[in-house]
Amino acid sequence: MRALIHQDEADIEESWSFPGKLEDVFKVIQGWDPICKAIVEKTPEVVDWKLVYRDPLPRWVSDHGRIALLGDSAHPFLPTSAQGATQAMEDGVVLAVCLKRGGKANIPNAVRAYQEIRYDRVKAVQKTGETTRDMWHKADWDKVAKDPESIQMPREDWVFKFDAEKNAEETFDEVVKQLS
Ligand SMILES: Cc1cc2nc3c(=O)[nH]c(=O)nc-3n(C[C@H](O)[C@H](O)[C@H](O)COP(=O)(O)OP(=O)(O)OC[C@H]3O[C@@H](n4cnc5c(N)ncnc54)[C@H](O)[C@@H]3O)c2cc1C
Repeated sequence: MRALIHQDEADIEESWSFPGKLEDVFKVIQGWDPICKAIVEKTPEVVDWKLVYRDPLPRWVSDHGRIALLGDSAHPFLPTSAQGATQAMEDGVVLAVCLKRGGKANIPNAVRAYQEIRYDRVKAVQKTGETTRDMWHKADWDKVAKDPESIQMPREDWVFKFDAEKNAEETFDEVVKQLS
């Protein structure tokens, strides 16, 4: 699969992917090295996939702590973060730790603790999708030519080396205390 990301003023309502047209891709790559057109011409099928961003939801848990959202339903990520699946898995691990630690008698509080433990981290990781997008979309190509590494995908330790399970185990009691 090849992806070409470009500016687009169009809005959408429900569905976000449509059959695309090669002619539209050619317009976007006008003026680029001819090799780009040669590659694109070989594409058998084009999908016009809108990148739709939503601000973080204010909360993921229902009033009575009976329903919790996780993964993309709670926090959509831009592809420039490359973290949607990872954060969905971290959610699942943390929710599991909270339910285990809370026990069957305390499910609503365990679910609320899950949101407390996850919320700020996920919001910060969501933001990396914006900062990386801006870095790529607003690149100063003269600077990049001198220092190609400056445009590499950031792989920061606070994102990649975080142990969500350990953190949940360590913070659960304190978070529950603050909730009550
Ligand atoms: C092209 C692309 C590249 C990506 N690259 C990365 C990457 O490099 N790294 C990364 O971490 N993330 C990446 N992601 C993001 C990642 O795929 C998502 O963030 C992740 O799949 C979210 O998981 P989820 O379980 O929340 O939702 P989903 O994986 O969307 O799962 C939701 C499931 O619910 C089902 N469903 C929906 N409605 C109903 C219904 N009414 N009844 C029953 N079932 C229903 C769907 O069919 C689906 O199986 C990428 C995504 C895309 C599209």
